[in-house]
Amino acid sequence: MPLDTARPGSRPERLTAQEARRRLEHERASRLVQLKAIEEAGGEEGDHLMAAQKDSAQRVLKDIDAAFDRIEAGTYGTCQECGQPVPVERLEILPYARCCVGCQRRTA
Ligand SMILES: [Zn+2]
Repeated sequence: MPLDTARPGSRPERLTAQEARRRLEHERASRLVQLKAIEEAGGEEGDHLMAAQKDSAQRVLKDIDAAFDRIEAGTYGTCQECGQPVPVERLEILPYARCCVGCQRRTA
């Protein structure tokens, strides 16, 4: 199913590719700001909290890139585990989510 199929008058079950890109861009920009702030703050060698924050920001950036790839491939919004659509409410909160809540719980 094309991502851009708009159904006027009803709430779409999926984000449009355009909307997904906009949200992902926003998310990426804020992670990059976060990373920059972490790097500028320096921190001592072996600062575990800072290393963990940096790590998680970089992981999210990777997830965001993967989500962009999925938009291109037309699989964005489809759970990578069970193949079911990821609810749009979830994608609005977590635009780079690769699977639905159920699978997330199972694989976490
Ligand atoms: Zn799933």
